[in-house]
Amino acid sequence: MNPQDGYIQYIINPKSGASSGKWLVSQFKDHLVEKGFEVRIEFTKSLEHACEIATKAAVDYQCALVIGAGGDGTLREILHGLEGTNKLFMPVPSGTENLLANELGFDLHLHTLVNAFEAGCIKPLDIGMVNDQCFMSIAGFGFDGAVIDRISHNRTGHISHLTYFWPIWRTFWEHDFPAVRVVVDDKEIFNDRGLVFVGNTSRYAIGLSICKNADFGDGLLDVCIFRCHDQAHLIGHSINVIFKRHTKSKNAIYAQGKSIQVTPVDSTVFCQVDGDPGPQLPANIKVIPQAIQVLVPPGAKPAGLRTRLKRIIG
Ligand SMILES: [Mg+2]
Repeated sequence: MNPQDGYIQYIINPKSGASSGKWLVSQFKDHLVEKGFEVRIEFTKSLEHACEIATKAAVDYQCALVIGAGGDGTLREILHGLEGTNKLFMPVPSGTENLLANELGFDLHLHTLVNAFEAGCIKPLDIGMVNDQCFMSIAGFGFDGAVIDRISHNRTGHISHLTYFWPIWRTFWEHDFPAVRVVVDDKEIFNDRGLVFVGNTSRYAIGLSICKNADFGDGLLDVCIFRCHDQAHLIGHSINVIFKRHTKSKNAIYAQGKSIQVTPVDSTVFCQVDGDPGPQLPANIKVIPQAIQVLVPPGAKPAGLRTRLKRIIG
């Protein structure tokens, strides 16, 4: 990309992320300015505002690239605004989890961003829809939906991994594992008590590869279901996920499809999308194939649990 191609719209969520993320956001901006690019910065005031800025940039032919700096919620709304246009997108990870940026091969190093920008390697990205809410990474139904619901009642701004500890702990003891019915491409594949994950990306929180075969550009969503009746089951499944043997369990179902329905059988089932509260169930889930064109670091792979632990330890 050349400075003559147009300006770069740099959308920043000023509330997201730790200081390391903020450093990365400003360093990359400085790098682009040094290279002679016109960088127009806008700070988001809300998730809706992030979508509005992106929509405006998407229809401006003078805009050559939209960069989104924020966590998964911010990036999701920016991509929602770009969907259906051919505007090129690039993420700068600066949230807590950065599920999408991680899946695309980004990390928190400036050289990775520079490499992606200069190599010009473009990949198509699908978007998932749960009812009228879109998601880029994973929609979860059941236990993790209940955890996010609990967090959302107290959340004020940026959260860290520590924020999740008590909500997970309390939900773990109080959760009663309600039953759900799951239909994939018109075929019922599950009707029991359990946890359901629908993934556009292979990695989930802390790098766990729950929807391990997911490809974000293949026009399909991956479905991973755990039959789970109590806390002991949940611990068993969690251990299997950590050791990447969860899909071999007789109490797990793995499928792929274009249209998925998740319906509660008797009591309320909570849903989360990309770590934010999702819509009320029943959920009608669809995929918008290759909705976005994204700049990615060439040859980069998503970081898994081990890599991420190493990064934390240093
Ligand atoms: Mg896919």
